Amino acid sequence: MILRNLIDFHCHLDLYPDFESIVKECEQANILTLAVTTTPRAWPRNHDLTLKTKYIRAALGLHPQLIDKDYARELLLWEKYLPEARYIGEVGLDASPRFSHTIKEQTRAFERILHCCAKAGDKVLSIHSVRSTGIILNLIENNLPVDRGGIVLHWFTGSIIEAQRAVTLGCYFSINTKMLKTKKGHDLLKVIPRERILTETDGPFTESGNTPAKPKDVASVVNLLAEIYGIDPHIMAGAISSNLKNLLNKYS
Ligand code: MN
Repeated sequence: MILRNLIDFHCHLDLYPDFESIVKECEQANILTLAVTTTPRAWPRNHDLTLKTKYIRAALGLHPQLIDKDYARELLLWEKYLPEARYIGEVGLDASPRFSHTIKEQTRAFERILHCCAKAGDKVLSIHSVRSTGIILNLIENNLPVDRGGIVLHWFTGSIIEAQRAVTLGCYFSINTKMLKTKKGHDLLKVIPRERILTETDGPFTESGNTPAKPKDVASVVNLLAEIYGIDPHIMAGAISSNLKNLLNKYS
């Protein structure tokens, strides 16, 4: 069964061994892919390679795991490219043990990013929120009103109550297969409205079989979601596609 209208709203295309060929592969397979980046230094090449593609979009990122004491220079570069970007990511916070020592710097940078996006008014963000959902939601509430930017929480790992709060704040959620293999992931789907769901692989950081997942593998997320909701996978894919259209229409 071939599913159409597939969407991989969070994939690191520039981290595969052959960036150009995976861009071509996604384009030929008509898979709408958000190519997130981890540093603004990656923006020019991502922007160039996706400028003329129909299905691939580049996102301008500054990954919280890469923030160090000298983040100011990176942030300035991020701001320089902002007018060229409609999509922002990967950005956010990571308070896991390996990265919590920079949480102050991460928070300052993320706050600035939200502020700049709110000022621009037309951005859609893919957000990393590991062990920091509460702070992330506070920062969004204080800096990025829902009418000033679209928020997609990628690989959400917060609590049910935090998910409900995120829904109230207007957030969308990009779901991957790893999330759907846990009980928590299933519980989350009970509180997240179906209209707020998107799909992702977060490739190459997830696997399909024994190899890094590629955007085409997002079909398995669609199939799992369809099974959970008890609907046909084609209908599920169509629903996710309308969700994305609705999100983008709010900020055009
Ligand atoms: Mn990622």
